[in-house]
Amino acid sequence: MENLIKALEKHEKLILDAEKYLWANPETGYKEVKTHKYLKEKFEALGYTLTEADGITGFYTTIDTGHEGPTVLVLGEMDSVICPSHPSADPVTGAVHACGHHCQASALLGIAGALKEPHVLDEMCGKIKLCAVPAEELLEITYRSELIEKGVISYYGGKTEFLSRGYFDDVDLALMIHTGGSIGVGKGHIGCIAKRIIYKGTASHAGGAPWDGHNALYAATSGLNSANAIRETFIDSDVIRFHPIITEGGQIVNAIPEKVSIESYVRGKTYDAIVKSNKRINQALIGSALSLNCNVEIIDAPGYAPEINCEDMRMVALQASRLALGEDCNLSDYTSSGSTDMGDLSGIMPTVQCWSGGSTGKGHGNDYVIADVKKATVDSAKWQLGMLYLLLKDDATMAKTIKQNFKPIYPNIKDYLDYIKGIFSKGDRITYNDDGTATVKI
Ligand SMILES: [Zn+2]
Ligand SMILES: [Zn+2]
Repeated sequence: MENLIKALEKHEKLILDAEKYLWANPETGYKEVKTHKYLKEKFEALGYTLTEADGITGFYTTIDTGHEGPTVLVLGEMDSVICPSHPSADPVTGAVHACGHHCQASALLGIAGALKEPHVLDEMCGKIKLCAVPAEELLEITYRSELIEKGVISYYGGKTEFLSRGYFDDVDLALMIHTGGSIGVGKGHIGCIAKRIIYKGTASHAGGAPWDGHNALYAATSGLNSANAIRETFIDSDVIRFHPIITEGGQIVNAIPEKVSIESYVRGKTYDAIVKSNKRINQALIGSALSLNCNVEIIDAPGYAPEINCEDMRMVALQASRLALGEDCNLSDYTSSGSTDMGDLSGIMPTVQCWSGGSTGKGHGNDYVIADVKKATVDSAKWQLGMLYLLLKDDATMAKTIKQNFKPIYPNIKDYLDYIKGIFSKGDRITYNDDGTATVKI
C-alpha cells in the first residue's frame, strides 16, 4: 500500500493541473468534448491505450495485473451542471462544476498515473478497469431525448449507456468516490424516471380573439397544480420527488401559447413506488390538459435505478480510508434523495459510491466551491487505490468473496435493461373522439 501511495504522490501535479483545467472548462453530459480530449491526451501520455465510446464522450482502459482474478471498475464522472449565477459559470452555457465531477475525473487520472509506476501491481490479482464516464447529471432532457431519437444514445445516463453498449460486460465489482464535504459512505440513493411533458394548445390573437385559442400555458400550470395536490397521497417512506421546470413557456406574448414544455423526474426509493406515483402524476397532468381542451405529450424514460451500496463494499471503503488516509470515513445509514446512475450498476454487481472531502457550499448551487482541492482529488485517489489494494491483494480473496456473497436484484445486465425498457412510453395522451368522448392514455 505504501508503494501505491508513493506512486500516487508522484502524480500530484498531474491531478492538480487537471482539476484547474476541468474546473475552468465545464461541460454538461454528452457534451464533454474538451474534457474528453484533455483526459484522453493525459491518459495516452501515461502510456495507456484507450477504448473511446463510439459517437459519444467517454472512454475506458483495462489494466491487467498479469494474474487471474476479478475485474474492478473505477469510475470518474466528467460532466457539469448548469448554474448561470455561479461566479465560475461558463458565460455562454452557464455550465459549472457545482457537483465536483471535475475532481472525480482528476482523481481517476491520478490513479491511472499511479498504476503505471513500477511494482505497484505486484501484490494484486485480476484487472482494473478505469472509466471516464459521461452524463451523470440527468439534465437537458430535451437534448438527450433528441439524441435518443437520432439513435446516438439509448439512455440518458452515461453509465446506463455504457452498460447497454457492453462496455461493462467484463466487470465484477464497481467503485467510485463522488466529491463531497467530508469523507463518508451512506446506504445509497433513491432512483428516478425522467419525464418530458409537452402541453399542446392552439395559438390565436391574445388580445383580439383569445376565444379562438386553447391555452397550453394554463393547461400546464393547471397540470402542475394538480400534481402538487396529490403530493400528500405519496407514502413518506417511498420518498417520492416531483420537481418540474418549464423550459418553454410560450412563443410570443401577443398570442395564446400553443406549446409549453416541461422537464421533470419522478424519484422514489423503489422502482415499484416510482412507477406507481408516476402514473398518478400523469393522470393529474393529463386531466388538466383535458379540462383546457388541450393535449399533452408525455415522454417517460428510465432515469436511474435506486442505488444500494453493497454492505461488504462499504466495509472495504471503511478499511481503505483507514489504510490510505489514516482516518475512518463516516459509515452512515443515510440514503440520499438524490439519484445517480451508479444505481444502475448496483442492482447487478457489488458497488459502492463514497463521498470525498473538500467541497463546501450547496451542491448544484452558486456558492459551491472546492475549498480543499487536495482532499477532493489526491486523497480521493489514495482512498480508491486503498480499496483496489484491499480487494485485489492476496489472490483477490476479498473481491472474490464479495462477488460470491452478493445477491443481485437483476441476474445480469440484459435482465436489468429488459426491465427498464418497460418504463419507456411516449405520445399524445388524449384522443378526442368524433362522438364527443375522449380517450386518455396514462
Ligand atoms: Zn450532481
Ligand atoms: Zn454529482
